[in-house]
Amino acid sequence: MEKILVSACLVGDNCKYDGKNNLNKDVLSLTEYFDLILICPETFGGLKTPRLPSERNGKKVINQKGKDVTQNYIDGAYLSLAIAKENHVRYAMMKEKSPSCGVHQIYDGSFSHKVVDGMGITSEILKENGIEVFSENEIPLLLEKIKRNG
Ligand code: SF4
Repeated sequence: MEKILVSACLVGDNCKYDGKNNLNKDVLSLTEYFDLILICPETFGGLKTPRLPSERNGKKVINQKGKDVTQNYIDGAYLSLAIAKENHVRYAMMKEKSPSCGVHQIYDGSFSHKVVDGMGITSEILKENGIEVFSENEIPLLLEKIKRNG
């Protein structure tokens, strides 16, 4: 079965910054079509759970106390990319609005719940390397694509 990279919090891993998850039953149902390869770029990059929330601010990622955590995010992104390459994945299913995994939207860096257009660091690096990245809101689009491409 084809493999797909998936943000681990979407299938119930408690790796979210607050120690919780973003379980999404529709994402879980992708097991009908794919072997899921779970990634959590923030923990891959050495950050602990729970951790302070962080937001992208241009090329940097800053946590709520003002600490620059960009390198953790970059390390986690490249480890995720290495896993994607090893497993020859074509697609990734990533958590919208996360500073790592966001696909179309992220928080604006002001910690005021304001959302702007943009990608998380890992999703951006996966896309730059030819992996098609979908958010949890785009499952029908992904399924349409695999039906078309086989
Ligand atoms: S880094 Fe991605 S997988 Fe990990 S908790 Fe955040 S959104 Fe979920």
